[in-house]
Amino acid sequence: MAKVYYNGDVSEGFLNGKTVAIIGYGSQGHAHALNLKESGVDVIVGLRQGKSWEKAKEDGFDVYPVQEAAEKAEVIMVLLPDEQQPEVYKASIESELTPGKALVFAHGFNIHFNQIVPPSDVDVFLVAPKGPGHLVRRTFTEGAGVPGLIAVYQDATGEAKEIALAYAKQIGAARAGVLETTFKEETETDLFGEQAVLCGGTSALVKAGFETLVEAGYQPEIAYFECLHELKLIVDLMYEGGLEYMRYSISDTAQWGDFQAGPRIVTDETKKEMKAILDDIQKGKFAKGWILENKLNRPEYNAINTAEANHPLEVVGRELREMMPFVKQSKQKKGAVNHG
Ligand code: NDP
Ligand code: MG
Ligand code: MG
Repeated sequence: MAKVYYNGDVSEGFLNGKTVAIIGYGSQGHAHALNLKESGVDVIVGLRQGKSWEKAKEDGFDVYPVQEAAEKAEVIMVLLPDEQQPEVYKASIESELTPGKALVFAHGFNIHFNQIVPPSDVDVFLVAPKGPGHLVRRTFTEGAGVPGLIAVYQDATGEAKEIALAYAKQIGAARAGVLETTFKEETETDLFGEQAVLCGGTSALVKAGFETLVEAGYQPEIAYFECLHELKLIVDLMYEGGLEYMRYSISDTAQWGDFQAGPRIVTDETKKEMKAILDDIQKGKFAKGWILENKLNRPEYNAINTAEANHPLEVVGRELREMMPFVKQSKQKKGAVNHG
């Protein structure tokens, strides 16, 4: 079994006397900044003028342009969208990386795929919560936490791992468990998880189920409840107690149906495709496509995004949720998972 670090295993002193600059104040940024501050860490925020700047100010932070924040801090946590990071890094962070500082990420993409190449005399590590930012914040305020990963890419000070663990503890991750990984493993598993299972696989499954019922003449509202709404209730049971507890809670009829139908839905063919997806990730093919798509201002991303928003599942879902005000939509973010 892998070593899992909990609060008692981690000495938080490694952040003492250091200023942490949180660059970006979105889904992850606001959560890290607030959790660290409430844990007693000296936090400043680095941003451009805009919506996030106002929000960070309202939340009581000293906010600076990115370069000034990077200059003032010993630990620089980059929580910008992955596709923006290389440009902002070149323009405003690189010049402030004096020896012994720490450059930190919440996802390994840009380091692993060489889009950011830091100088060799700084620490480079990641602290990646395995959950969306708004949960990193909410669970912290409830006395709990979202599990996290740490990885050291460069250890210039000899203390990179200890600083990473202290950071993970102060955002609440060590309440749930912190695992050590590498940039390669974090990047590849994170991309695979969101593509094959969490986001890509699940959306495609929900859509195909909905379409099958509607095409067979069933009411779209019933198809929505059956294939999307109920999914949360089932996933909550898995989260609490694995497949075992989910199956304990559903009827025996549902469980027998699960055993019979599951392997007909996810077949050897599906698994073969999963391996091909993983292969594209490992060989940098996915990264290359995404980097190019951004350089071209996202023509394909935008076209698919528009088509998806008009899918009948989304149209009927919007109407039904209007009538269920208790189904709150998080205002933090569209719900990136790490994922995200
Ligand atoms: P968001 O998109 O939620 O937030 C981005 C922030 O960066 C905003 O505050 C935005 O401010 C700011 N920003 C964007 N462009 C610039 C710029 N050019 N200069 C200065 N500030 C800028 O990002 P996420 O929190 O989703 O992602 C951050 C990192 O965390 C990524 O590496 C991601 O992979 C990782 N991660 C994300 C997870 C998640 O739950 N979302 C989960 C785990 C890891 P403005 O208001 O001005 O646009
Ligand atoms: Mg049922
Ligand atoms: Mg991700």
